[in-house]
Amino acid sequence: MAGIEAEIPYNVIIIGSGLAGLQCAVILGRKGYRVLVLEKNEHIGGTLQSFDYKGVSFSTGMHYVGSLDEGQVLNRIFRYFNLFDGIRYKRLDEHGFDVFNIGGKKYAFPMGWPAFENYLKALFPEETTAIQNYINAVESTVCGQEIFNLENPAATYVEKPSQSINAWDFICNLTQNAELRQVFSALNFVYAGDRNRTPWYVHALINHYFISSSYRVVGASNQIPQRLYQEIEKTGGRVLTMQKVTQLLFNEDHLSGVRCADGNEFKAEMIISNIHPGSTMNLIEPGKIKKSYRNRLEQKTDTLSCFALYLKLKPGKFRYQNFNYNFYLQPDVWYASSYDERLWPEHFFLHFPADEPNPQWVDHLSIVTYMSFEEVSMWKDLPSNARGIGYKQFKKEKAEKLLALVLLQFPELENLITDYTTATPLTFREYVGSPTGSMYGTLRDYKFPLASYVGVRTKIHNLYFTGQNLNLHGVMGVSISALLTCAEFVDLPELLNEINDS
Ligand SMILES: Cc1cc2nc3c(=O)[nH]c(=O)nc-3n(C[C@H](O)[C@H](O)[C@H](O)COP(=O)(O)OP(=O)(O)OC[C@H]3O[C@@H](n4cnc5c(N)ncnc54)[C@H](O)[C@@H]3O)c2cc1C
Repeated sequence: MAGIEAEIPYNVIIIGSGLAGLQCAVILGRKGYRVLVLEKNEHIGGTLQSFDYKGVSFSTGMHYVGSLDEGQVLNRIFRYFNLFDGIRYKRLDEHGFDVFNIGGKKYAFPMGWPAFENYLKALFPEETTAIQNYINAVESTVCGQEIFNLENPAATYVEKPSQSINAWDFICNLTQNAELRQVFSALNFVYAGDRNRTPWYVHALINHYFISSSYRVVGASNQIPQRLYQEIEKTGGRVLTMQKVTQLLFNEDHLSGVRCADGNEFKAEMIISNIHPGSTMNLIEPGKIKKSYRNRLEQKTDTLSCFALYLKLKPGKFRYQNFNYNFYLQPDVWYASSYDERLWPEHFFLHFPADEPNPQWVDHLSIVTYMSFEEVSMWKDLPSNARGIGYKQFKKEKAEKLLALVLLQFPELENLITDYTTATPLTFREYVGSPTGSMYGTLRDYKFPLASYVGVRTKIHNLYFTGQNLNLHGVMGVSISALLTCAEFVDLPELLNEINDS
């Protein structure tokens, strides 16, 4: 017998403990399934994990969440998962939750659609029709996505017109005003928009999500996976870390379990993969799945990856700001699609953590910007402790360049930095196991809505997908993906009622 637990039958094994995987485990556990979550890393949560560096805790991949006001969609979802229990959320500044500096001009997005509409109309009095049309279009696109309103959809995949419309083209058709086009698109970094590919529905859902209301977790983001872990335990489910799944096991043509890197084998009736679809295909031996399907999932284009600079500051010296700061050197927020390594960095996103016990000051900051995987690909096959001096030097140079850009906006930081560390696309690849450390998983393409879509069901009847590679990324997107995945196991209308009533 290969593994310690070969004899224990689970109903469901979930590969990966990202947000969606943990949420599936809670839902299915509450519905009576015996669930096992297997996580390759030491810490659970995927990009929701945080790490401690020289006494401070940095969040890796969740800076704020949207639609958390009472009654709004994420608020209902978080209530269902008990994510208000012991975790505090700080509502960002309603007069400017996201501040943008686009090519030297500043904008502060107010929270709530009426305030947002008034703000835009005051800034662009000649453009009231375009602004009204924009707001109506966002509203009708979001209304048309039933599941994003926690309403029962007619089917898990229904192709909607908003999936085959290019977001940038749509915005350009609303107005000739170049500045307003950029302002409509300003939240671009939170979906890594590609001018030539991103569909309108991605833009509409994300903008609706954050403009409706925006909050940040008080303290580190890993409180969310930790809380979900407790909910899983309550249902009798298990979460095992340091268990990298390396192979899906078959009994003839029937998927029967998984094998991990250390030889442990676990059996289950159903498997859910919370990892990148291409990485999932790598777990399946040749001949068990159609080559064309395997190729389609392995060759998917991903959203860009990123470089993060984590600064440790002298305490009590740098004021907390209740907003995110987004800087674009050029007046083009869509620059991920024309990203040029030689001009790097042209952008940064600065996150002020909301921390106790001194909420008016920050003792650390996270700064994130795009970076393509190719820039670090020469070290891609080396373990993290064997990348040598060249990789260290690369990170140092990049950190210094990014910091120089940040200091132009925040010169007072110069004498306050006591230490720093960085994360590259290789770090993000390790956090989530995606091939290129992509920030938000697979890239949706308006030209190929069906081909760029990853469904819950796979070509193996008892293998399912969940997570950011399905409909949408982000805390909201992956929570919805978890509901769609669980709809294969439980009654979705009943589950939605439970969430809406919680
Ligand atoms: C820098 C950054 C900033 C972000 N900021 C925000 C934000 O402010 N707001 C927001 O809403 N969203 C944000 N996001 C996006 C959000 O964090 C993700 O969309 C979401 O957390 C993805 O969840 P997931 O369920 O798809 O799982 P993932 O986070 O992708 O996790 C997958 C898990 O599977 C594990 N795994 C992989 N391979 C294996 C294997 N073979 N065996 C076992 N386990 C395996 C990984 O270790 C990982 O734990 C950000 C992302 C990044 C990168």
